[in-house]
Amino acid sequence: MRVARFAGEDDPRFGVVGEEDGAPMIAVLKGDPLYAGFELTGEKVPLADVRLLAPVIPRSKVACVGKNYAAHAAEMGGDVPAEPLVFLKPNTSVIGPGEPIVYPRQSRDVHFEGELAVVIGRICRDVAPEDAHKVIFGYTVANDVTARDLQAADGQWARAKGFDSFCPLGPWIETNLDTADLRVRTTLNGETRQDATTADMVFDVPAVVAHISSFMTLLPGDVLLTGTPEGVGPMEVGDSVGVTISGIGSLINQVVSHD
Ligand code: MG
Repeated sequence: MRVARFAGEDDPRFGVVGEEDGAPMIAVLKGDPLYAGFELTGEKVPLADVRLLAPVIPRSKVACVGKNYAAHAAEMGGDVPAEPLVFLKPNTSVIGPGEPIVYPRQSRDVHFEGELAVVIGRICRDVAPEDAHKVIFGYTVANDVTARDLQAADGQWARAKGFDSFCPLGPWIETNLDTADLRVRTTLNGETRQDATTADMVFDVPAVVAHISSFMTLLPGDVLLTGTPEGVGPMEVGDSVGVTISGIGSLINQVVSHD
C-alpha cells in the first residue's frame, strides 16, 4: 500500500495511492494513518490534482547510517565501519517531492546521496533484527543532501547534514516491500550518477533498526536513512536531482540559490 501526504486547504491530508480507470487516484484517509489507522473518508482525488508533501515529518529525528555500502566507503577514502556509523539530521531538514533544496551560503560543495528510508511505526527500543518488521511502518525514498566541505571541516556532521531542505523525502510511503534487493538510482539532470542495489548494504534494514534502537528510543514517524551507494557527487544551483527506488518510486527536487 502506498500512503501519500498531500496539501489540503488548511492542514495536510493523507491518502492511499491506487488506480481508477487507469488513472492514479488517492483514496483519502480520515487522519494520519501512523496514529489514526486506515479509515477511508470515501472521497477520492486524482493524484495529478494534488501537491504531494513529505510523506512524513519525523516525530523526533532522522537517524542515518554512514558508509553502509563498501564501494561508497572506499570512494570516501575509508573502510566499512565495524558497527553502523550513526548520525542525526533534524526533522527541520525534511522537505517533500518537488520542493527546492536550498544551496547554503556557507558551502561550495553540496552533494546528493540517494538512499532508502525506513519509517518507524511504533515506539520501540532494543529491537531484535528478526522483530524489525514489527516496528516498521513502511519505506520511502530519501536524499541525504550533504555539504561535503563542511563535513570535512567540522568533524561533527550536524551542520553539513542538517541545513533546512537537506532531507528530501517522498514521493510516498510503501508499506509492503521486501528491501533485500532494491535498485537505488540517482540522476542529475537526467544523467545516472548512482546505480546500485540494497543487496550491497553492509548492514541490512533489520540490522540498522536493531543497532539504532539499541541506544535510542524510536518513535512513530521517526525516519532511518540506510546509507548511500557509490557515485555521490556535487550539485549546482539549477540542477534537478532524482532518486528512484524500485518498488517505491521517484523523488525529484531542484537546487536553488539561498538568495
Ligand atoms: Mg548518507
